[in-house]
Amino acid sequence: MTKKILILPGDGIGPEIVAQAVKVLEKLQNQGLAVELDEAPVGGAAIDASGVPLPEETLEKAKAADAVLLGAVGGAKWEALDIAIRPEKGLLGLRAGLGLFANLRPALLYPQLADASTLKPEVVSGLDILIVRELTGGIYFGQPRGIRTLENGEREGFNTLVYRESEIERIVRVAGDIARKRDSRVCSVDKANVLECTELWREVATRVMEADYADVELSHMYVDNAAMQLVKAPKQFDVMVTTNMFGDILSDAAAMLTGSIGMLPSASLDEKGKGMYEPIHGSAPDIAGQDKANPLATILSVAMMLRYSLEESEMADRIEAAVNRVLDEGLRTADILSEGMREVSCSEMGDAVVAVL
Ligand code: NAD
Repeated sequence: MTKKILILPGDGIGPEIVAQAVKVLEKLQNQGLAVELDEAPVGGAAIDASGVPLPEETLEKAKAADAVLLGAVGGAKWEALDIAIRPEKGLLGLRAGLGLFANLRPALLYPQLADASTLKPEVVSGLDILIVRELTGGIYFGQPRGIRTLENGEREGFNTLVYRESEIERIVRVAGDIARKRDSRVCSVDKANVLECTELWREVATRVMEADYADVELSHMYVDNAAMQLVKAPKQFDVMVTTNMFGDILSDAAAMLTGSIGMLPSASLDEKGKGMYEPIHGSAPDIAGQDKANPLATILSVAMMLRYSLEESEMADRIEAAVNRVLDEGLRTADILSEGMREVSCSEMGDAVVAVL
């Protein structure tokens, strides 16, 4: 059956990097991948075209698709707009509208790029961890929230950290399922020594894993220790699963261990495995329109899409192997350039991956 992929190029470097990923998809189509591609506006591009960052038609198309590939949104042009209609609202609307509760953020350091990290090569070379972040609950969404004025006239800000058992259970299951396809180890990160909400998190994680994932090793770690361990000995981790806020922070720290923001893909999944795939970086307005951006994070997002939403793991493996090959050949976009390597443009990098495929 032909699967539908919706392409959302977005703003800044979005259209340039997405064009390279589309080349890769078209190459795979020629080799038997049964997909149909459609495109729609989101973010600033959608604001310019129709006044809103997430037009109804874009959301409807996204709901009808089997998977969504997003470039990036945002830019100075739209920064003065009211926060309710800024480009980033398009992203939040997609996450909420599609029910994308599980955010998968791999931090993988290709040995060829070990010098790009600020850490010693032996600490990070070959790093391959995956952070599973809960995306639609926790303190970012809990009620009540706000800023109130107390009786003495002083103002007080407040937010609520809240997780239901069912929310914890479904994200832990995502981590367990993914760990089985990797090194079968899950580290659940919480602050159970201080926060009751994450005491429940630890209890549910233990129950679910013991009952249904006995073949996967489960460990627990407090978030402060996890932050320390990520910097000290990051290769000890396989899959980490954690709350929305802890995951937000830890996944950025993990990403930076690799030193190359242009290399990292991400996935956000719903309950049925449908997902939105995107590079972790933004729209990079400073280099937009110059054919200089690194398209590999977006191309690797396609690999994640094939693995997690389209059940085409073999094609996913082939894309990742092709990326490895072009790095072995010494091709580098400007952001990952080092001595002795050959600098290529965004489109040349895309062509090189297609050529290997
Ligand atoms: P950014 O990720 O866009 O850029 C940070 C730095 O990394 C810049 O120097 C940029 O040139 C570089 N960079 C990023 N991606 C690159 C790539 N593929 N190849 C080479 N270099 C790359 O973050 P920012 O500058 O903080 O934000 C710029 C805009 O992007 C803002 O409007 C922000 O809101 C938006 N943003 C969007 C997303 C998203 O769409 N998911 C995420 C983050 C930021």
